[in-house]
Amino acid sequence: MADFDVDLFVIGAGSGGTRAARIAAGHGARVMIAEEDRIGGTCVVRGCVPKKLYVYASRFADDFADAAGFGWTLGEARFDWGTLRDAVAREVTRLSGLYRKGLEGAGVAVRTERAVVAGPHEVRLAGGDTVRARHILVATGGYPAFDPPIPGGELGISSNEVFHLPSLPKRMLVVGGGYIALEFASVFARLGVTVTVLHRGDNILRGFDEDIRTRLRDALAHAGITLRLGCTVERIELLEDGVRRAHCASGAPIDAEVILVATGRRPNTVGLGLAEAGVALGPVGEVIVDANSATAVHSIHAVGDVTNRINLTPVAIREGHAFADSTFGGKPWTVDHHLVASAVFTTPEIGTVGLSEQQARAAGHELRIFETGFRPMKATISGREERIYMKLVVDAQSDRMLGVHILGHDAGEIIQAVAIAVSMGATKADFDRTIALHPSAAEELVTMRTPRAG
Ligand code: NDP
Repeated sequence: MADFDVDLFVIGAGSGGTRAARIAAGHGARVMIAEEDRIGGTCVVRGCVPKKLYVYASRFADDFADAAGFGWTLGEARFDWGTLRDAVAREVTRLSGLYRKGLEGAGVAVRTERAVVAGPHEVRLAGGDTVRARHILVATGGYPAFDPPIPGGELGISSNEVFHLPSLPKRMLVVGGGYIALEFASVFARLGVTVTVLHRGDNILRGFDEDIRTRLRDALAHAGITLRLGCTVERIELLEDGVRRAHCASGAPIDAEVILVATGRRPNTVGLGLAEAGVALGPVGEVIVDANSATAVHSIHAVGDVTNRINLTPVAIREGHAFADSTFGGKPWTVDHHLVASAVFTTPEIGTVGLSEQQARAAGHELRIFETGFRPMKATISGREERIYMKLVVDAQSDRMLGVHILGHDAGEIIQAVAIAVSMGATKADFDRTIALHPSAAEELVTMRTPRAG
């Protein structure tokens, strides 16, 4: 082993790579990590964290409006984009610094330059160094894709750039109907931007429970967002005054100062030297791995979005941790990719775990469906037209809770706790036995008694 410079070389210091590096170092491994961008990766630098801060900013609009019903008189509310943008940028810098400190504190050597695989045990750094590693972990994440390209596509921006807009646009066109498109549509609409969402499908959020999709679609429209469904952009042109004009396959063109393209992400494997080293890649460039995150080359593993399994930060972290424990800690374990809860931070937000009603039926389950829709207590006095919707998908034979879906305030917070029960195999009877916490919205989860007819 003496001819290896390090025991582990990690390419990519995002959520998965950073966790793997720190845990491996804790097990006594000599670890080096390389990052070509900022330490922290998509989640910290240009994803979950800054996005959630923008979501908080956008929701003040509702809070100010709601306050009047509770007796508050507020002055004129004004929003300054530059203040928010710069505050979020400072927080990202602080967090990125903490990530670096965490790595260095654990004894990991950090290189801020691009690294590529040069062989099963060899990594080449952009600065010219070559490092021999006993193990290589690929944790390079993904990048925003606009595929296939369209004429003028470069006039659009991706979620990478949306955090740094020089000023708040008057109009924004958002292309796509997934997580990123809808979260930013929600944010910018509440910050005062006129937002249009243009999506190729006949409804948003493909794969989510149909009742949640439809109710969110209606809620977004109610919040003033224009939804153009069943429609694609064919080309974008730049008008003289800097306005972008999107020409659609059907209907009138759409003018906007900013076009945000959020049509999915691709695994970041281009030019990484993986195929040359013998690593198998899938149709969208993802690294093919087994349950141990092992690739076709015994010394190379991969975790996180680059493997295109479940593209969520906590999943990448868990995969990185399992790899490090298994490879360097003498404690082999694998990640259970079932029953991963997730949230969509639109307003209202979605929290979901397990199977949708449609997925459960397709899997052959006979179902009992419980659902409730109600006006939250706060809305009675604020006067806000707002509803919370909850659905329980229960296997009729075993009484097992197969899925829980919530649309409404704090859905993400609620579903995290519900996910513990569901992943423990909770039944509807377990939910029924749980005494409600009153007054709360979440209590409705344990008070639904009558299944939906039909
Ligand atoms: P998604 O896969 O969620 O959505 C992509 C959207 O773009 C879909 O509506 C898709 O339509 C549409 N689309 C894809 N290709 C084209 C095309 N060529 N032309 C027009 N429309 C197209 O990707 P996102 O980029 O929104 O997010 C990437 C991933 O990041 C998510 O899947 C999620 O795993 C993660 N994420 C998680 C968040 C969270 O946990 N809150 C927040 C943000 C991201 P169709 O449905 O027809 O395929």
